Amino acid sequence: MSGTAAERLDRFMARANAAYYAGRDPFADFTTAPEITQAFGEILGAWAAVTWQAMGAPDPVLLVEAGPGRGTLMADALRLVGRVAPAFGRAIRLHLLETSPRLRASQAEALSGTGVVPTWHDRLDTLPDGPFILLANEFLDALPIRQLVRTAGGWMERWVEGDRFVLRDADVQPVAVPGRSVAQGDVLELCEPAMAVVRHLTERMSRQPGAALFLDYGSDRPGTGDTLQALRQGRPSPPLEHPGEADLTAHVDFPLLAHLAREAGVAVHGPDGQGAFLDGLGLFARTERLAQGRPPEQARALADGAHRLAAPERMGRLFKVLGLCHPTMALPGFGREEAS
Ligand code: SAH
Repeated sequence: MSGTAAERLDRFMARANAAYYAGRDPFADFTTAPEITQAFGEILGAWAAVTWQAMGAPDPVLLVEAGPGRGTLMADALRLVGRVAPAFGRAIRLHLLETSPRLRASQAEALSGTGVVPTWHDRLDTLPDGPFILLANEFLDALPIRQLVRTAGGWMERWVEGDRFVLRDADVQPVAVPGRSVAQGDVLELCEPAMAVVRHLTERMSRQPGAALFLDYGSDRPGTGDTLQALRQGRPSPPLEHPGEADLTAHVDFPLLAHLAREAGVAVHGPDGQGAFLDGLGLFARTERLAQGRPPEQARALADGAHRLAAPERMGRLFKVLGLCHPTMALPGFGREEAS
């Protein structure tokens, strides 16, 4: 990527990430929960099966994953579902939201042994209608953000010129989130694609059974601040340098997304800490089962993986889980205390 004309931050981020996901193996630069332990995808498969029951066991049901990466989460989830909830397994119509051709190929390969053939989409609005369950792990953090700056003269916006930021007048207002106060000089992030995802899903949920689970990093309290970050060759890197060679992400604004969903009249669960959520759904029990009869180093790797996902000082607290569903449905796994 090149060019010196100023570009709005979200457009810069969209371009940089599209080039990055299309051209590189992102998983050489970072490790996500499903790549850490198979128990993660299995627990989410079990969660989806219980959620399907809570929806009244519709057949068919759309199982949707947004940003499936290598397809590992879904392969682990489907394997578990096939064993413990075969009726759910038979009802599933699998839809994957993925823009990277390269990752689509990885997903096809990961899922080839499951007997389930996915349909891929570039956008949510091409999904067929009907009851659905959506899973998204580390999807929202990859979506492009805008950054607004509160100044004495009103809202300004950060644009990218070369490898630095410049300020322009903003042509958009931030969404007011209950409990958030903004002082002069504060940066406020706005992830319009994430807001569009929530609006799309809540519109569907208001007229048919549906549930969505977002796992990602971000705060559970309304806040402000610049959270844009880049990982290049496994290491933090200045976000505006080397576009297309680094993974650009930002914290997910869970309070804003929860607020939008509430306004739309759907039920909101969490955001809870990922550790409490996974522990409550049996991450450690499942890990022990998996470790039984395995060589000690494999058993240790499984235990370490579970610890990494759930311990508060690792991913257990920074990562949050947000559940949205049709207003009359229950969702399993929420409202637990943090794992110790
Ligand atoms: N969920 C996976 C991968 C996380 S990486 C895991 O946990 O391992 C982010 C994923 O979102 C990648 O699959 C990337 O290609 C996809 N993605 C990023 N932006 C997207 C967009 N705008 N539309 C669809 N998929 C996108």
